[in-house]
Amino acid sequence: MNYDIIVIGSGPGGYVTAIRAAQLGFKTAIIEKESLGGICLNWGCIPTKALLKSAQVFHYINHAEDYGLNKVEGSFEFPNVIQRSRGVANKMSKGIEFLMKKNKIDVILGTAKIQKGKKVSVTDKDGKVTEYTGTHIIIATGARSRELPNLPQDGKKVIGYRQALSLPEQPKSMIVVGSGAIGVEFADFYNTMGTKVTVVEFMPNIVPVEDEEISKHLEKSLKKSGIEIMTNASVESVDTSGEGVKATVKTAKGNITLEADILLSAVGIAANIENIGLEEVGIQTDKGRVLVNEWYETSVPGYYAIGDLIPTQALAHVASAEGITCVEKIKGLHVEKIDYGNIPGCTYCHPEVASVGLTEKQAKEKGYEIKVGKFPLSASGKATANGNTDGFVKVIFDAKYGEWLGCHMIGEGVTDMVAEAVVARKLETTGHEIIKSIHPHPTVSEAIMEAAAAAYGEVIHI
Ligand SMILES: Cc1cc2nc3c(=O)[nH]c(=O)nc-3n(C[C@H](O)[C@H](O)[C@H](O)COP(=O)(O)OP(=O)(O)OC[C@H]3O[C@@H](n4cnc5c(N)ncnc54)[C@H](O)[C@@H]3O)c2cc1C
Repeated sequence: MNYDIIVIGSGPGGYVTAIRAAQLGFKTAIIEKESLGGICLNWGCIPTKALLKSAQVFHYINHAEDYGLNKVEGSFEFPNVIQRSRGVANKMSKGIEFLMKKNKIDVILGTAKIQKGKKVSVTDKDGKVTEYTGTHIIIATGARSRELPNLPQDGKKVIGYRQALSLPEQPKSMIVVGSGAIGVEFADFYNTMGTKVTVVEFMPNIVPVEDEEISKHLEKSLKKSGIEIMTNASVESVDTSGEGVKATVKTAKGNITLEADILLSAVGIAANIENIGLEEVGIQTDKGRVLVNEWYETSVPGYYAIGDLIPTQALAHVASAEGITCVEKIKGLHVEKIDYGNIPGCTYCHPEVASVGLTEKQAKEKGYEIKVGKFPLSASGKATANGNTDGFVKVIFDAKYGEWLGCHMIGEGVTDMVAEAVVARKLETTGHEIIKSIHPHPTVSEAIMEAAAAAYGEVIHI
């Protein structure tokens, strides 16, 4: 019942923390109330990508003629598509079970609540309460779908991401509120499968955190694929009394009513800070998140918090990196702080979006004199061979020293390409060094080298 490290929550924050802690020789336990792998593996990153893959295969089948093949009419049973996605999630969750065993981490199933004196009480499914003690308690309870007061989720007609991943039948029409990564990915999936989708976004651009040119390009591409997009618009109220949903949407031209079978609320997340004992222990929170210092220590010594629970980017790779940093620091290793300016963000719709670093607007606001280079995928041999020429790569360098300030990409495969920019920026690589780094031909990655060359007037293929 006594551990060096107790981790609460087994998402990509918690389970990665537990593994690194065990590697470092700590006697470690992890507590989970639902399924190993957290939101990411069970209801987030992985099952959404499985759905998007089904949609992409369906799209390719229906476009077989574009590849010189005979015309085929793709067809599917919606429950089977959902079932495949759930199967992928379950397989990944089982993989975490194996990793816990391999690393000799005790898995405790139940709902945890922290107490003073670095104790954790766990209530199992039969209501039995057991108390554990840890030298260090790391809280990684993650987050859930945020509910807006005017958009209460009933789980049937007004739904969150969990229901959108497990609907028993395909809706004929859907309103998606919010066009961040989650909203856009679901909009793309359902639209590709044949649902009539309307996206409502409060901000002037969809995927609002991205570089404006990328947002505008994505909007055009998604509209071309059949998605209706309303920006500068907000859902004021919903009426679910009839057969479907009626949403009153405020626009610059006045209120309009949208009707659909289902409304998906994708307006962000709310951290799971309730009922975990924060108040009893005296751990400080602010705006619904747990406050931590640069080593993830909360306001009470011996208690730490990481992942979606704290006010950093709500991404799986961020949660994992925070957990590793946290336990390495506890171990007394020489640890580097996380550079939150070099975190890649990806949206896996079609075309995909990936970026890292400053947008053009941010770079200018920070006072940089910049060099911008762009390369369209229509000029890429590999993209043309793939039949995926929609998109471009945009790179931003500091004109004075050549520092790579930002990389923004839209197109098939860019979510895998963005790691190059992350590593290069970490190594403080300059624009000229990117141009002189020979990229393999034919690959879409050449577009990064060409975009860098374009910034310096040396581009070859345009
Ligand atoms: C639809 C969707 C798609 C996403 N796609 C991506 C993506 O492509 N890439 C990406 O980087 N991020 C993505 N995310 C975000 C990503 O899932 C989160 O950033 C990540 O899961 C956060 O990890 P975490 O460990 O902080 O928390 P979580 O993954 O939320 O895990 C927290 C765990 O704690 C458990 N828990 C909570 N309270 C208790 C308690 N009291 N006792 C015991 N256990 C408890 C929960 O059951 C859960 O398993 C997506 C999210 C969603 C919703």
